Amino acid sequence: MVTADRPSDAAREALEIAESAREAEWTHPSLAAEIFLGRFRTDLVLPFPSHPEADRDAGRAFLAKLERFLRESVDPDEVDRTGELPAAAIAGLVDLGCFGMTIPREHGGLGLSKTNYNRAVALVASHCASTAVWLSAHQSIGVPQPLKLFGTEEQKKRFFPRLARGAISAFGLTEPGAGSDPAGMKTTATPIEGGRGWNLTGEKLWCTNGPVADLLVVMARTPSVFVEGREKKQFTAFIVEGDAPGVSVVHRCGFMGLHGIQNGLLKFDNVRVPAENVLWKPGLGLKLALITLNTGRLTLPAACAGVAKQCLSIVRRWARTRTQWGGPIGHHEAIASKIAWIASHAFAIEAITEYPTRLVDRGGADIRLEAAIAKLFASETLGRIVDETVQILGGRGFESVASLRGRGETPYPVERIYREARINRIVEGTTEICHLFLAREALDPHLRRLGALVDPRASLGRKASALGRAALFYPAWYVRQWIPFGGRGSVSGPLADHFRFVSRSSHRLARAIFHAMARHGPALERRQILLARLVDVGVDLVAIATTCSYALARVAEHPEDRSPLELADLFSRTARRRVADALRGVRSNDDGQAYRLARAALEDRYLWLEEGILRACEERPEPSRPSATAPVGASSASPV
Ligand SMILES: Cc1cc2nc3c(=O)[nH]c(=O)nc-3n(C[C@H](O)[C@H](O)[C@H](O)COP(=O)(O)OP(=O)(O)OC[C@H]3O[C@@H](n4cnc5c(N)ncnc54)[C@H](O)[C@@H]3O)c2cc1C
Repeated sequence: MVTADRPSDAAREALEIAESAREAEWTHPSLAAEIFLGRFRTDLVLPFPSHPEADRDAGRAFLAKLERFLRESVDPDEVDRTGELPAAAIAGLVDLGCFGMTIPREHGGLGLSKTNYNRAVALVASHCASTAVWLSAHQSIGVPQPLKLFGTEEQKKRFFPRLARGAISAFGLTEPGAGSDPAGMKTTATPIEGGRGWNLTGEKLWCTNGPVADLLVVMARTPSVFVEGREKKQFTAFIVEGDAPGVSVVHRCGFMGLHGIQNGLLKFDNVRVPAENVLWKPGLGLKLALITLNTGRLTLPAACAGVAKQCLSIVRRWARTRTQWGGPIGHHEAIASKIAWIASHAFAIEAITEYPTRLVDRGGADIRLEAAIAKLFASETLGRIVDETVQILGGRGFESVASLRGRGETPYPVERIYREARINRIVEGTTEICHLFLAREALDPHLRRLGALVDPRASLGRKASALGRAALFYPAWYVRQWIPFGGRGSVSGPLADHFRFVSRSSHRLARAIFHAMARHGPALERRQILLARLVDVGVDLVAIATTCSYALARVAEHPEDRSPLELADLFSRTARRRVADALRGVRSNDDGQAYRLARAALEDRYLWLEEGILRACEERPEPSRPSATAPVGASSASPV
């Protein structure tokens, strides 16, 4: 039995804040939430949400211009080598309107749909990841996104035209002491001048575009309020001018990949922010940040789809020309199976991302879970795709473009792609945090019905009414989880068997969640690996459903080409094996032993195992920080 630490008050508070960030008004229910509850609703995924022809045409015209520009003006290997995206490239992107892709037309932007915007980012990411990050940090999480969602008309008029003309923006949430748990942030904003302004003081770490930003959205703690004698932390989002007195770049950060991004540790030293720069309302800053990420994080899987397809393109070309042991390496079964995995999973990444993206364009859909699932699935799957791509290229996969070019070989940029893909599993919600978020959402319908029964703080009256609610809901619900195909709407034709599998497995998943709750009670929230297995089952079921539906939609459009069905079929077969493995792991695992071993390792029990090495470095009590160098907005921030 795992005995993880009980959640601290701080953890409970962080969870409460995250939960208060939920939105309530949806008209299109979540496919994933229904699957976790054992209700696979085929009507939510069939037919696949359409991309209207007019919007497609608008996107095509823009993408063609963008592609030409990237080919002629952005050299990704030079960006990687020099650590700079040249000023001329940035200016060219501004001229094309790339910094205003998501900004409404009436405010000077291109007003692209989310689907077309994501396609543009996927195209850029397939060519140069650093350039994609410049654009997506600016408009998926930077000022345009929260401004669009929460800005007043006055704020939109004031900031959108500037942003569309190329004023670069950034998103400042993370701090040295507050990463996955932003509620631990130390940056504060205090009201001054009788409420006409705020004094912003603190630091923001790894702020992408931050060192060159003209505008930043910065989250800060504002004075707490007290509800029934209990302190409630308050967080507020501010639009901050990059050249405001007191804003400075302490350090430009350098990374394993994405060498061309501008990312830094920023300092806010008694920065005056006018009251009219508060976004939404005081106290709603963390909610704003989390809602921004709800849809903002769809850009990352779109970028992953672009990179996955680039990998497919490279391995396809390489594996049929490279000959070893008497034949092309692509004909040897070990390599062929990798190519099949890459092709089928690249298709699945695209499907699982397009589904919620098109729903965003349609409006009114609850896609928080689908966006987190797309992010989790795409980043993890891309991790394996780039790794297998290196393997298929062999030594050339490990060799830099400059070296390949120097020897006169085709300079496939696999070594760079591998370095650049790794970050996707960390930013915009790490894999572990996505698991926790999705687990919490999967458990939520049960917690809402049963929570009071196990909550020691709940009154007898609340417990009794929870018991009544549970008695009304669970008997019929539980019986339904044993009926093989209880999904709304029937499916037939190609891939029908996979849809039936999703339906059957959603029942098994719902039962497994219910049994885990009954077995572990409130301690379940600490069984992270068990929860991750349950979540991964849900993720693969959503992936199968969206991939099969996407394939059917493509075949309906181009009936002469049935190849999407082949990709969806192989993907589904592979994912079904993963689902079976994960469900087996729910029943039988070594989680408790692994946890105890990890705790022993942390307590130095296996220190002897580290004998015979030269330890990498000694820990510093505090990260060392050079003093402030340049004001934000001065693009002269020192390169790494
Ligand atoms: C290149 C880059 C760009 C970035 N851009 C931005 C940006 O523009 N704006 C911004 O605000 N931030 C940005 N970030 C920050 C990024 O979002 C964080 O790195 C991320 O949120 C994780 O925080 P952390 O690195 O401090 O990890 P930590 O929170 O310290 O976590 C370390 C590890 O512990 C795990 N972990 C943490 N808590 C738990 C838990 N409760 N249960 C289980 N596992 C847990 C994590 O998943 C992770 O594996 C960027 C980071 C990088 C590297």
